[in-house]
Amino acid sequence: MTVKRIAVLGAGILGSCLALLLARRGHDVTVFDKESEPVACASRWNEGKIHLGYLYGADDSLRTARHILPGSLSFGRVLSELLGADLRPHTTSGDDIYLVHRNSVVDPVTLERTFSRIDELLREHPLAREYLVDVSAARTRRLSPSECREISGADEVVAALEVPERSINTQWVADSLAAALRSQARVTLRLETMVTDAKPAADPYGRWHVVAGDGTCEPFDVVVNALWEGRLAVDLTAGITPAPGWSHRFRYCLFMRTTRPVALRSALITVGGFGDVKNYNGRDFYMSWYPVGMVRQGGGITLERPEPLDAAATAQFVGAVRAQLGSLLPGIDAVFEAAEDIKVRGGFVFAQAKGSVDDPAASIHRRDRFGVQREGNYYSVDTGKYSTAPWMAEQLAAEISGD
Ligand SMILES: Cc1cc2nc3c(=O)[nH]c(=O)nc-3n(C[C@H](O)[C@H](O)[C@H](O)COP(=O)(O)OP(=O)(O)OC[C@H]3O[C@@H](n4cnc5c(N)ncnc54)[C@H](O)[C@@H]3O)c2cc1C
Repeated sequence: MTVKRIAVLGAGILGSCLALLLARRGHDVTVFDKESEPVACASRWNEGKIHLGYLYGADDSLRTARHILPGSLSFGRVLSELLGADLRPHTTSGDDIYLVHRNSVVDPVTLERTFSRIDELLREHPLAREYLVDVSAARTRRLSPSECREISGADEVVAALEVPERSINTQWVADSLAAALRSQARVTLRLETMVTDAKPAADPYGRWHVVAGDGTCEPFDVVVNALWEGRLAVDLTAGITPAPGWSHRFRYCLFMRTTRPVALRSALITVGGFGDVKNYNGRDFYMSWYPVGMVRQGGGITLERPEPLDAAATAQFVGAVRAQLGSLLPGIDAVFEAAEDIKVRGGFVFAQAKGSVDDPAASIHRRDRFGVQREGNYYSVDTGKYSTAPWMAEQLAAEISGD
């Protein structure tokens, strides 16, 4: 095998998994990131839903589910091998509940039908047993009215569907990946380094130069751009013109820890701009209310990050999420009452999709277009979803190594 000098731009879940996989194959990997720690952005501060496609219930073509499944079903295998760890203590233990809102953009009967078709895809899928739990016998269950009332007594909730989907505590994954990167001798971390350009080198070897904001310019045999919301700007410098139709959103959410275990089921309100709660292990929780948390959106190549919230804005945000989510899920009050730490954090959602989640026809309800674009030894990766990232990294590592 020829040892390659590889630049990985971006230390999110995609870049970190890829760097580890390439280093373990014997390559010399340099990871660039503008932050002072690896995995400090969207991959640290998200809900960690390992998507089976149910969230995209407005996509009745099932293209999203089909596109997402190979990666999501492989998430546990790839990540646990990479970290040498059991993911179960960091993964939601029960099935997820989708509460259908009266103003859902998909009515409950159609949604239940779509969910059953996703179940069918799962039952037929060769990787169904590799998911975080075995989903080879997946069957969506409609909760009885009394079961539904136990979770939400609100008139706005018109149905409840139970599906075998799981979520993972993304902060634990971030800490574990950061530690693995730091202990991998073949990985050089170039943190606090803003990448500005990637340019083909004027040599016969097909190499690329990575230019950083500190003025450095280094040659590499291979460059992988995994900069997420920063990706298209660097692609432009590499001579790749982005396809039209990208949209950016910046979303804030709550990340909470309680002093004692709280028994609350993970649930989300669907389909549209609503909210959700995740209970990872009884003490670590995630909560969101979409219209409150979505603080910035736009199209084009980049979107400026909002200023961090000050103390007053943080308190107001926490109160607003509690009020909105609590009016539909009264059980969340117990989490606030036991809370010892509440963080408001967020990240970019970035997709080749457009429109409002309140519009059933908007392409934002689909995620079936992400993947890798290649230009010689330059690879530009649209991660698409957290849940597919380790598997995409595995595929790409094999391709780059010529396995
Ligand atoms: C609130 C929220 C909830 C979400 N929930 C889910 C979910 O439940 N399930 C799911 O599958 N997905 C979810 N997502 C999407 C998911 O977070 C992303 O798809 C995923 O984290 C992207 O990973 P990444 O490695 O590509 O990007 P990132 O984790 O953002 O990593 C990119 C890195 O590049 C660095 N960077 C960017 N530009 C530059 C530059 N010019 N120079 C140097 N460094 C740079 C950044 O600092 C960052 O560390 C959610 C996103 C948000 C915001």
